[in-house]
Amino acid sequence: MQIIRSAKDLETFLQQFEEINFVPTMGNLHAGHLSLVSEANRYHGITLVSIFVNPLQFAPNEDLDIYPRTEKQDLKELEKINCDVVFCPKPDFAKGVKKLHANPDLSKKLCGISRPHFFHGIVSILNHFFQLINPKNVFFGLKDYQQYLIVKDFLTKSNLKTNIHGVPIVRESDGLAMSSRNNLLTPDQRLIAAKLSAILRDTAQEAKIKNLEYLRVEGIKKLEEFNFKVDYFSFCNSRTLEEIDEFEANTLLAVAVNLEGVRLIDNFLIQ
Ligand code: AMP
Repeated sequence: MQIIRSAKDLETFLQQFEEINFVPTMGNLHAGHLSLVSEANRYHGITLVSIFVNPLQFAPNEDLDIYPRTEKQDLKELEKINCDVVFCPKPDFAKGVKKLHANPDLSKKLCGISRPHFFHGIVSILNHFFQLINPKNVFFGLKDYQQYLIVKDFLTKSNLKTNIHGVPIVRESDGLAMSSRNNLLTPDQRLIAAKLSAILRDTAQEAKIKNLEYLRVEGIKKLEEFNFKVDYFSFCNSRTLEEIDEFEANTLLAVAVNLEGVRLIDNFLIQ
């Protein structure tokens, strides 16, 4: 496995390959990330993973400084699952990046309400990666469903010939969606965190038979009983993220909460 740290070295290295399957990450890898890499490995060509904590997607009051960084362990995991090349650029990779705007129809909803800078930062850094790598395929987790839709929209409108693949959410045995931020939870908080997916799953099961606004109010109440601060609890159209009042096929139930300073997101696609 090649480990490359500068954009120039990556450019030179990639010249010998025609088809690149790219998995962007912020490191602190877990089975969710690794499922993206395994998916990428199924495609013809080489698998490239980036590890870069993108400062452009964090506001000054957010957790950039404490975001878990575990590069040595990450590299071991990637080697084990036959990743071909890992790109770990230095923090200055984000300097001078062309600032782009994510599609407001998608980015001003859900996470974009409390984190207005967030998706612009993501699209800007991804564009920087994509221009450098020119990937044939890119892989994104459906845990970050809104991000997946925004990147898909961005690619459709760009001149890149890159296919995007959405990969299902990987969960812990108690249902908690895997996330690097789970490592910021104390053992007690970690136990409570599992209630998030349990409440969502129960709510999702009732969505076809009960009033959605009723379920929303009840869901928020249940989460607050466990001390989650609810950022949003939304039933929405899974293509447009438009809020819906009545169940329709492929309704997305998307939630973001804060558990004593740790932000957690999760979603269920209800078919
Ligand atoms: P991050 O390192 O948090 O930026 O995530 C990198 C990629 O891994 C993104 O496409 C995420 O959606 C994906 N990802 C993170 N957690 C999970 C999970 N539990 N299941 C599937 N994909 C995930």
